[in-house]
Amino acid sequence: MRIIVLGCLWLSGWGGFKGVAAEPPAPIPINANLELTPLTPDTLLVTSYTEVEGWGRIGSNGVLLVHEDAGFLIDTPMEEETTRQLLDYLESEMQIWLVGFLAQHWHRDSMGGLTVIQERSIPNYASNRTRSIARERGLPIPEIGFEDETALPFANRLLHIRFFGPAHTSDGVVVWIPQDRLLVGGCTLKSNAARNLGNLADADPEAYPLTLQKLWDAFGESAALVVPGHGLAGGPEIIRHNLQMAQQLP
Ligand SMILES: [Zn+2]
Repeated sequence: MRIIVLGCLWLSGWGGFKGVAAEPPAPIPINANLELTPLTPDTLLVTSYTEVEGWGRIGSNGVLLVHEDAGFLIDTPMEEETTRQLLDYLESEMQIWLVGFLAQHWHRDSMGGLTVIQERSIPNYASNRTRSIARERGLPIPEIGFEDETALPFANRLLHIRFFGPAHTSDGVVVWIPQDRLLVGGCTLKSNAARNLGNLADADPEAYPLTLQKLWDAFGESAALVVPGHGLAGGPEIIRHNLQMAQQLP
């Protein structure tokens, strides 16, 4: 029921990401640390906010794909509690139950809430790179692995998941959904507003520009909507902006 409301908001609030209207849809607040923003009629941006020492209040993105009462979540909020609140809200207010979850990399802004996903017996996926880093670091391990490229079915869509090379971390994958021409970049991509590539503690500065060049070659022409790990979604210029920032890394 609720998703119909969201769909209408999208239709009336935003002519679409293909460039008709200037204004993106307004976020729908769930609580002080969590909001949902319609991206397409059946895709929502999940933004969660967490106080991170040394960085302040950080907003992190996940993406929720919806089909009828089923949802597929890409990346959790950083906190277990916020992840629990998100799932509770989806179930009780929107009648959406997750049938799958993908962690795009091993940092907590991708899988900090993995335990909550696993408690609810939701099939949870990550690349074998991410799973082995999680194992080495004593983090919860996503249960279902895949090699550097795979495709997961969700309802009438296929999620094309691919590792293009090291960048923000050595394991970050992106998700491409052809029907929506939607690229979910995760923390491999920062927003157009970002002035730098943020947390480089686990980054590979040498490979970073090469990986982003491959992303640009793959999606620069075809992507209509690009979702970064933090900040606002945009178009393929996000990839180019990140490539320019990566080329300036020391
Ligand atoms: Zn991040």
